[in-house]
Amino acid sequence: MSDPNELTVLNPATEEIVATVPAASEEDVAAAVARAVRAQRTWAALAPADRARLLRRFADVVDTHTEELARLEVREAGHTLGNARWEAGNARDLLLYAAGGAERLLGRQIPAPGGWDVTFHEPLGVIGVIAPWNFPMPIAAWGSFPALAAGNAVVLKPAEATPLTALRLAGLALEAGLPEHLFQVLPGYGTTAGRALVDHPDVAKIVFTGSTRTGREVMERCARLVKPVTLELGGKSPNIVFADADLTAALDPFSFLDNCGQDCCARTRVLVQESVLDEARALLADALAAVVVGDPADEKTQMGPLISARQRERVRSYVPDDAPALRGSAPDGPGFWFPPTVLTAERPDGRAAREEVFGPVAVLLPFTDEQDAVRLANDTPYGLSGSIWTRDLGRALRVSQAVRAGNLSVNSHSSVRYWTPFGGFKQSGLGRELGPDALTAFTETKNVFISTEGPAQ
Ligand code: NAD
Repeated sequence: MSDPNELTVLNPATEEIVATVPAASEEDVAAAVARAVRAQRTWAALAPADRARLLRRFADVVDTHTEELARLEVREAGHTLGNARWEAGNARDLLLYAAGGAERLLGRQIPAPGGWDVTFHEPLGVIGVIAPWNFPMPIAAWGSFPALAAGNAVVLKPAEATPLTALRLAGLALEAGLPEHLFQVLPGYGTTAGRALVDHPDVAKIVFTGSTRTGREVMERCARLVKPVTLELGGKSPNIVFADADLTAALDPFSFLDNCGQDCCARTRVLVQESVLDEARALLADALAAVVVGDPADEKTQMGPLISARQRERVRSYVPDDAPALRGSAPDGPGFWFPPTVLTAERPDGRAAREEVFGPVAVLLPFTDEQDAVRLANDTPYGLSGSIWTRDLGRALRVSQAVRAGNLSVNSHSSVRYWTPFGGFKQSGLGRELGPDALTAFTETKNVFISTEGPAQ
């Protein structure tokens, strides 16, 4: 039984306690929101250039703490050091990008008979951000920094297992000179602090990243208050490999093993054209055997542990011992390890082919032709991301138009760039984060008509 007043942060690679952190109550959330309401008024009154200057200073402070933030992410989430350094850099870069956005958040003047129409982008107020454990630092940043840049305050609830990097970011914001209570991080349980944030009438918008199941509840609760919500949910993304592709690049196992597969964009359905299936299987077998799994703080490690014993049990439930599979190796305990695995005889309608496993497990599925590939790719309730590998430009364009997903890459496994919009189709979510429209998503558009004809007589 977990203590309702406390969160225990475990190092997933050692099972040792890293920290215990007080868990916020409903009252704590209400108090934080009240403080945020006051902080937001002062912040929104600043000139955009002044907000931008402070955010750039925040970026500088994050930059000088890259190594500290990265090592904290390694300890609380089991990320490899290389990935965690990238994440700290991503938070810094997003701050710089958002600072530029603050200076360019412009309204419009629209010609109107008898006067002028002028539009403004006004900040919403206090934004509630709810983050998952799989990418604690990036998701804290994506939900919060564009919102701050647009003139809002943020109250962020990190996941129970991973509150530390978000707390540190909030500390660094203060060091950089951002106003007190503008960016508050409140660790706590989803069913207490999370719900309280969603239900609070002074929280103007919720940005939720997590499972589709919880996202559905969050959306229902927001609906009661007609509160806008952005949902970044699960995925079951295809990696479509045509016979003419560069097979070695296409079958890079880190397309589904990155972050031990705990990645909403993981390409966990490896769709391979029948004529190269044997070659693909051989390449994957060699690649899985070569993956270095172990201590995530070691520079040479390529894959760390799963987040928890619970997550490992969940992943195991998709991989029966006798299932035909290609397997790499993993250390024995302590630590929540699982070997890189590709199931080779899963049916397209099997559990592991349809549900988000959220572990280092992919399924290999053959297809016959382009039409069959598109049918299989779309045969899922999700639509977050995917890759298309072919040397045929026409086919690349046709397939990328036909696949129903928010983030596709052709001859690449890249998913997330802070300068492009990110989000899912279907049950992968609602709304977009990042990219050129990231700031306007945290504003209301107001139109004011100014009569040029004087007051009516
Ligand atoms: P989760 O849904 O269990 O929890 C996410 C967050 O919601 C946590 O902070 C949790 O405390 C909180 N929460 C739980 N119940 C709540 C409630 N009733 N009301 C309000 N908040 C509540 O998800 P998880 O297991 O932490 O994360 C893994 C999931 O996140 C995966 O499905 C993954 O695909 C998804 N994810 C999506 C994206 C994306 O951008 N689409 C990115 C990362 C992770």
